[in-house]
Amino acid sequence: MIDHAVTPLDDVTAVRFALATLPDVPRLKPAADATRFVGHACPMCGVALTATSIRWAWVVPLVHAAARATGQADRFACCADCAVKRGAADLLECSLKHTGDLLERRRVLLQAGAHHPTRWRDRPRITAALAARVDQPRVTLVAAVSLDGGAVVGWSERSGGAMALGALVHRLRSAYRIERIADGDPVMIGRARADDAVLYRVPAPLGLDALWTLIDAGALLRPAVSVVPQADDWRTSWAVLWHSMRQHRDRLDMATLFPVPVPTPAYSDKPSAMRMRAARAADAVR
Ligand SMILES: [Zn+2]
Repeated sequence: MIDHAVTPLDDVTAVRFALATLPDVPRLKPAADATRFVGHACPMCGVALTATSIRWAWVVPLVHAAARATGQADRFACCADCAVKRGAADLLECSLKHTGDLLERRRVLLQAGAHHPTRWRDRPRITAALAARVDQPRVTLVAAVSLDGGAVVGWSERSGGAMALGALVHRLRSAYRIERIADGDPVMIGRARADDAVLYRVPAPLGLDALWTLIDAGALLRPAVSVVPQADDWRTSWAVLWHSMRQHRDRLDMATLFPVPVPTPAYSDKPSAMRMRAARAADAVR
């Protein structure tokens, strides 16, 4: 008899498994048409590209962020040395000598790519919130929210650049009493391996707060297990991704499922402004 009962993965194991399946940083062989860039300067080191040194690289190496819908070219030609040195790092972590339009292409791709919801509802503010988010190096983290309200967050060397990861850890350490989870046995899935996984536990009930701190700091979060958003707490929508600006703009429809709060505007505390507000409130009562 076959036992069909499935033992649910515990959060730590689920995050380890998800990290083991994070896609590798794509290493592209030079395509035939890359030869048109032979003789151009490598945008990172400035050395002239030759037929043997030329490599294609991704403008945005993180899969979550890569957007095809914009029609923007998502690759550029650089030299083999720079392609290896860069690894999974964001372009903003690399010293670029001849940027050209690379950083603008990065920004367009990231803004159109899969992003977490912002709490704004009108397009200019959504655009501004996304712009603030993509103006810093981004990393992909794996997370699971525990039943008790805590969370497990993990990353591997395929998550992104060391500088961006370091900044996020610092943010978590200073705001939450996170604990490093001891390294477990390496998880093997096919040829994928996550023996470089680093996991932290966020104590209950601060799990969702910590995840939103990470999202606001520019992290792309992948859920380790599927997440069902709860109507009574918009923060539970953290794992739901919208895939285009249009979906961002149109998420008023989604907001019936996840009532995302609109922040109250910050009022001026100048005496004249306070007098004016008091007078208006008095008018309204009359
Ligand atoms: Zn180079």
